[in-house]
Amino acid sequence: MSPEEFRRHGKQVIDWIADYLAGIESHPVMSQVKPGEIRRALPASPPEHGEPFENVLSDLGQVLLPGITHWQHPGFFAYFPSNASGPAILGDLLSSGLGVQGMLWVTSPACTELETVVVDWLAELIGLPERFRTDAAGGGVIQDSASSACLVALLAALHRASGGRVAAEGIDRRYTLYVSSQTHSSLEKAARIAGLGAAGVRVVDVDPRTLAMDPAHLRELLAEDEAAGAVPAMVCATVGTTSTTAVDPVPAIGEVCRERGVWLHVDAAYAGVAAICPEFRWLNDGVAEYADSYATNPHKWLLTNFDCGVLWTADRGPLLGALSILPEYLRNTATSTGSVVDYRDWQVPLGRRFRALKLWSVIRWYGAEGLRAHLRKCVELAAELAGWIAADPGFELHEQHPLGLVCFRPLWPGLDDAAQADRATLRLMELLNASGSMYLTHTRLAGRVVLRLAVGAAATERRHVEQAWEQIRWEHAALSTTMP
Ligand SMILES: *Cc1c(COP(=O)(O)O)cnc(C)c1O
Repeated sequence: MSPEEFRRHGKQVIDWIADYLAGIESHPVMSQVKPGEIRRALPASPPEHGEPFENVLSDLGQVLLPGITHWQHPGFFAYFPSNASGPAILGDLLSSGLGVQGMLWVTSPACTELETVVVDWLAELIGLPERFRTDAAGGGVIQDSASSACLVALLAALHRASGGRVAAEGIDRRYTLYVSSQTHSSLEKAARIAGLGAAGVRVVDVDPRTLAMDPAHLRELLAEDEAAGAVPAMVCATVGTTSTTAVDPVPAIGEVCRERGVWLHVDAAYAGVAAICPEFRWLNDGVAEYADSYATNPHKWLLTNFDCGVLWTADRGPLLGALSILPEYLRNTATSTGSVVDYRDWQVPLGRRFRALKLWSVIRWYGAEGLRAHLRKCVELAAELAGWIAADPGFELHEQHPLGLVCFRPLWPGLDDAAQADRATLRLMELLNASGSMYLTHTRLAGRVVLRLAVGAAATERRHVEQAWEQIRWEHAALSTTMP
């Protein structure tokens, strides 16, 4: 494709995306296709002869679009709405246009140095302590996801806990990782990858009301495990759990970690970015004093399209100790002088995309005040919705909803069996999701199915939340009449 052909098709693509965004409400939020339907509509074998790019665009519209779930739809309330925005899309496009692979500083100095600037900017925006900055002993790095961030944090923690033995000799004793029942599954995945096994994951109790980790039980488990010869490698505290946005008490957990010399990772994948607003700075309580590493995902709530997760560490020594390997073919003068950052040593893969461009575009386009406005809009809409739910006798609200997520349970007075009621709740969710105007997901609280409505898409306005709530009430009432 020549630069002139690229210009022509590139304009078509930008127009396609702009039309898509302008008309996004005309699509059903959740794709309604059956498994295999899209695949069957595509040729089984690749073309022998090249085709015009228009064919790709027309198949995108006709074949693929029905199989797309529209994450940027204002009625997308599932999981955490993965954010995207114009500047992020354009920043990502520029990254593709440059085609840079930034594994080493020398493979594109600007890729590394812009990343350093942007992660330091974000640290400043969310009020992370000085020691997480690149000019101090720590520093930040953009990862693909929070799952990678917690794996990398665990590898650094293991390095420190083992005095470097794990990197040299492998797992030489029983190392343990501490989570709660509310911790994201990526921590267990990290433990399996790192060789601790699921058996190395110790589950600390939570307060049944707030679902926050119990630091006293953490202290007990640590003492018990150490007495049994295990080496505690890392504790993961979550600020804003995936299920309900519960917030673990980081200061109290941090105190226990300090007593025992255990690495504290703070997983704030969704909630961390909210600390850009002064009224949500409390989310960082204890991070400055106690955290060894901290991660948040701009792709979850900061208008940056997937993928973009940022990991900071207070001391990059163990991280580099765990992951640096310098084969001959990567040697270069800049690296050997030690005067540059090579982010390949801060992540699992060698190669890396120029993700800093999209985060830089987002922060510059919105400015701190624009980012705050987005975050506040979501929290305000969620609080308003929670008020409506609390006032409705047909529903039960989960009272903790500090951010953009509201969890609630429809009541089914005709059904006295909990399992039947849970099935009715799931049926209600399926009906709502099949309607095309919204997408909700569920979780379980105290064994009961609960619906989650996360306000987070850039396009979501008050009227969308209002409409969703009206429809939820209406469908609930309609379904209730069919119950015994
Ligand atoms: C979403 C989430 C993760 C995983 O995020 P990915 O970036 O998709 O890997 C981890 N922890 C928490 C608390 C999350 O909400």
